[in-house]
Amino acid sequence: MENPTATILLKQGRDKPVRQRHPWVFSGAIDRLKGRPAPGDLVVVADHKGAPLATAYYNEKSQIQARILSWNTDEAIDEAYWRGRLQRAIAGRSMMLADCRPSPTDPLTTDPLTTACRLVNAEADGLPGLVVDRYGDYLVVQCLTLGIDRRKEMLAKLLADMLRPAGILERSDVDVRGKEGLKPVVGSLYGTPPPAELVIRENGFSFVVDVHHGHKTGFYLDQRDNRAAVGQPATMAGRDVLNVFAYTGAFGVYAAAAGARSVVQVDSSAAVLETAEINMKLNGYERPMDEYIAGDAFEVLRYFRETGRQFDAVILDPPKFAHNHGQIDRATRGYKDLNWLALRLLRPDGVLATFSCSGLISADLFQKVVFGAAVDAGRDVQIARHLGQAADHPVLLAFPESAYLKGLLCRVL
Ligand code: SAH
Repeated sequence: MENPTATILLKQGRDKPVRQRHPWVFSGAIDRLKGRPAPGDLVVVADHKGAPLATAYYNEKSQIQARILSWNTDEAIDEAYWRGRLQRAIAGRSMMLADCRPSPTDPLTTDPLTTACRLVNAEADGLPGLVVDRYGDYLVVQCLTLGIDRRKEMLAKLLADMLRPAGILERSDVDVRGKEGLKPVVGSLYGTPPPAELVIRENGFSFVVDVHHGHKTGFYLDQRDNRAAVGQPATMAGRDVLNVFAYTGAFGVYAAAAGARSVVQVDSSAAVLETAEINMKLNGYERPMDEYIAGDAFEVLRYFRETGRQFDAVILDPPKFAHNHGQIDRATRGYKDLNWLALRLLRPDGVLATFSCSGLISADLFQKVVFGAAVDAGRDVQIARHLGQAADHPVLLAFPESAYLKGLLCRVL
């Protein structure tokens, strides 16, 4: 069992977020430290008078100097604690994902419609800095903080024990680790490494996933529910569909299955489009009318506009445009341009499914940006549905930062 090696005393008046169970303690809120904790050590977080509020792990290199593990300072942070937290997160997935039931009593099930999902969503699951995604028989783990990095072997052992995966791969090759003073790490944490091409199922569709090199942990699991919402016959049947920022073509597969007449997929990476084509074939769509265009989305959309090409449905799922507060203005201009271009390509009574995964751009602001684009494009736009991240990427009320993906499914008159 680990014991706290120091106490962090907060400045007067800076204890409210901690009392409201926000898990982050910023350096600016700290008055002083009693003790000299090593990086990653457990610390007690206390108010300015010294009354203990929570137990956290510590990293002086990070702006977020402590991340809270428990608000009960009597609770031991031992293996049973970590096991309990993992179990609680995993058990919750059966509610979030009707067909993917990876619970401690029902480990990796065979042959469900959906075999890939997020099992642990970091802070939002009470496990700050830890992401665990399941891809069939394999787990892919991201350690985003030093506190988690230091404990990853123990966490991998617990996960192996609970879920009996064939292997656990670490994909900690993410930029945010730099803020914690950590370098990117990729490697096996347990068992056999996953194959280069893993086939997963999502809502009954099959997808090839490269968990070793793919974006995030291999697949955009956070878009699962939106793919199902957008990929309906009502929105896709008989339509010419443009899937922009296609990655490995997941929205395209749903569109084809929902009866799209043609699917044009655009991405700046030719390599991911090859996988998109494979994924379309894997699901039975090898059709002459479907196209794969490698190029910059803005340029391709402009080219379509100049050449008078039109579509009945456009899906826009760009990468994160705003990485910090200073980029918000530029990002909103980017989103506006993109949505304006898409609106100009739509035939009357078209469909626009538009997304932003920038956590710094609120759903409100995003809606305003799309409104601005509609005004400039001279189109009347109805919102049919507000969209967000899939249910296995829960948002913790006490931690609104866990909400990052927002989208609008629109009818464009
Ligand atoms: N919709 C996808 C995920 C998209 S991720 C899915 O459901 O799986 C964003 C994608 O945008 C990445 O594949 C990236 O290669 C691509 N991308 C980034 N910048 C781009 C640009 N300027 N033009 C076209 N594609 C771009």
